[in-house]
Amino acid sequence: MALRKPSAIVAAFAAFLFAFLLVTAPMRAQEATAKSRLSVHWEELTAADFREGIRRSQGTCLLPFGILEKHGPHLPLGTDLLDVRYAALHAAEQEYAVVFPEYYFGQIAEARHEPGTIAYSRELQLALLQETTDEMARNGCRKVVIVNGHGGNESLLPYFAQTQLDKQHDYVVYIFDRRSPESGGPPKKTSMDMHAGESETSKMMIARPDTVHVDRAGSESGADQHRQHLPDDVYTGIWWYARFPNHYSGDGSAATQELGKFQMDWWIDAVVKTIRAVKADDVSLKLQNEFYEKSKHPLDTKP
Ligand SMILES: [Zn+2]
Repeated sequence: MALRKPSAIVAAFAAFLFAFLLVTAPMRAQEATAKSRLSVHWEELTAADFREGIRRSQGTCLLPFGILEKHGPHLPLGTDLLDVRYAALHAAEQEYAVVFPEYYFGQIAEARHEPGTIAYSRELQLALLQETTDEMARNGCRKVVIVNGHGGNESLLPYFAQTQLDKQHDYVVYIFDRRSPESGGPPKKTSMDMHAGESETSKMMIARPDTVHVDRAGSESGADQHRQHLPDDVYTGIWWYARFPNHYSGDGSAATQELGKFQMDWWIDAVVKTIRAVKADDVSLKLQNEFYEKSKHPLDTKP
């Protein structure tokens, strides 16, 4: 009896402690989540939380880049913006980064003949992008990752990155410009699939299914019209209109949610890997600074 009594007290205490922990644990967990939960959206952070976001992201910020242009007869004008933000925001949730608000001021001169296209001048595209990344950097984004959602930016963005060498910048511009894996996943039904076709329509079925009108996808032709006859390595700005005057390349009616999920999961994962690689990169800024310094007195540069 003398032995059982203290053990009964211990048992009662243990039971009380267990019940106490059981009741308070979710409350403490909630408090901790509220403290540690930080939005990845730049515009949703308070000033103080923004400071914490920059610290937590190690100065890594995403600039998802969309556009406003026709996407076949069945997808919304903002398809590239909606898709790229879906991928970037989900990636930043997995690997913390601060995500800049909606940005759609890119190169889209080739769709000016279609309703709803917003095509800024080339001067403004470059000036606005430079001031945007400069302002991001002034606020602590030492690593600006442009996640491109729009095929028409594929010359603009590398040119923008190259011209960061023209004068000193205290940050690095990184560009990630892939939206679909090269292979794998559910077999595709179409081979021509460049704009508003099987892949893009499938991804929109994941990002914003409420905006997809797949029943209209066959109402216009997305076939290549081969109206220009030049060697492959001769470039003209009218090439896209020559091939796809309806601003549609492929067949959106072949789209499936299954393909969309595969491609979107791949895209999110690819952006996560990009954020991690950029965070780990401690070479690019050092080399940039070395380059800027040397470029002030090129005659002193020796092999
Ligand atoms: Zn698009």
